[in-house]
Amino acid sequence: MHEPPRVAQFAGRVQSVAHTANERVLIIGGGIVGLTIAHAALRRGLAVEILDAGTDSCSASQGNAGQIAPGHPPIPSPAVPPRALHMLLDPRSPLSIPPRPSLSLLRWLLAFRQACKPASYEASMQTLGSLGRLSRERFDELIEDLGAKSLHTTAGVADIWRTKAGEVDAAAESAWMERLGFATESLSGRALRARDPAWGPDVRGAVIHTEGVCLDPADLCNALRNRIKALGGRMRHGCVLDLKRTDEHWHATLHGGQVARGTRLVISAGTWSPPLARMLGLHITMQPAKGYHVAVKMNCPPVIAGVLRESKIAVTPMGGLTRIAGTLELSGVNFRIVPQRIAQLAIGAAAFLPELTHTPTYSPWCGLRPCTANGLPIIGPIGPEAWIATGHGMMGVTLATGTAELVMQQMFGDPSPAWALSLRPKIQHAHGR
Ligand SMILES: Cc1cc2nc3c(=O)[nH]c(=O)nc-3n(C[C@H](O)[C@H](O)[C@H](O)COP(=O)(O)OP(=O)(O)OC[C@H]3O[C@@H](n4cnc5c(N)ncnc54)[C@H](O)[C@@H]3O)c2cc1C
Repeated sequence: MHEPPRVAQFAGRVQSVAHTANERVLIIGGGIVGLTIAHAALRRGLAVEILDAGTDSCSASQGNAGQIAPGHPPIPSPAVPPRALHMLLDPRSPLSIPPRPSLSLLRWLLAFRQACKPASYEASMQTLGSLGRLSRERFDELIEDLGAKSLHTTAGVADIWRTKAGEVDAAAESAWMERLGFATESLSGRALRARDPAWGPDVRGAVIHTEGVCLDPADLCNALRNRIKALGGRMRHGCVLDLKRTDEHWHATLHGGQVARGTRLVISAGTWSPPLARMLGLHITMQPAKGYHVAVKMNCPPVIAGVLRESKIAVTPMGGLTRIAGTLELSGVNFRIVPQRIAQLAIGAAAFLPELTHTPTYSPWCGLRPCTANGLPIIGPIGPEAWIATGHGMMGVTLATGTAELVMQQMFGDPSPAWALSLRPKIQHAHGR
């Protein structure tokens, strides 16, 4: 019987490795986080094999809003608890938690409540700001290496509001962004419309986060896959069902019985990471948070991507269409598209973009954000030559490149920044396998 590694002894210690050409990193999960880590490992001279279970449509990385918005706050914040009940009872609200008997959901909600306290929020903002800064720098290097400058637009990402309350919230958030060193530009509703006439008369103002960029996330994933192949990386289709470590190698057993072998292991399987972590004797608390998108073809589409503050809907120009994405539904692992949620996306966006009132939406899609209770990703060592990188919630694309950098620093024994310590897994042993 395989003995789960005694992981506690590895946590918090930077792994020091002597890397050779014989080293192979097995990466479980080929979403944006796994792909970016694979790319970084190949660039460091390691052999890489990505194991991925899904069709592309399973991965949140394929259909998200494509906004890279460093400095964005975590989901748990002091503003959430006073509004939570109202949001849960309002069918138009972006938040939905259909009732279900789930101990893990209850635990997650209790931990989420704790993370909404002002001190936790401030600490999370600082850490996410630092990871966002690192990621933004590494993103430019990634684009350079992919040779894909046309992949993204750099017009910034706007925070747009219609109400006085929205303006107050936006001002608080943009003050945070400035404290974190991210540049912002404030515009009145009129000035926004002069620059981008798609935004309607009810829009009262916007703050443009000028370092934000946007892109089609599926194009980014494709460009990464092509580059990984060109650098000699392997990709194998299959669901990892078991993990063992013997003779200084990790063995990943796939559905159908094939076994992939590597000297190092990275678990980056998005919302499906917790059961894989449990195979190493670890328990991590995460919930899948379903989000949706629809596409619209507009006569006068917005040119500036934005997040609509009151409805938390993201609007992104993408390949001649406009993508409207949002909602946060805590309903477990499922890909059921609830028509009412899709309808709310269109209605919520039309309040800001009047043309949408009479424009049909199509291609509904949903994906599962891997959400930790404290809103921070989990990045760090979890066993001998094993790391985890997951829990990026609403910010996987934004934070993937910095995540890959931290994993490489840890793998190669390079110094890591002090703020990255709070992202390391808080290891509790799972009971049994
Ligand atoms: C509607 C919506 C809008 C969003 N907008 C943005 C945005 O604008 N900006 C932003 O930064 N983020 C955004 N996000 C969040 C972002 O999409 C996620 O944080 C990110 O995609 C998570 O990436 P990942 O690689 O961790 O997981 P995924 O992309 O989910 O990839 C996980 C992969 O692991 C594979 N896998 C799972 N289990 C196994 C197994 N046992 N064996 C092998 N493979 C396995 C799956 O097949 C999958 O391909 C949005 C999300 C949603 C849903």
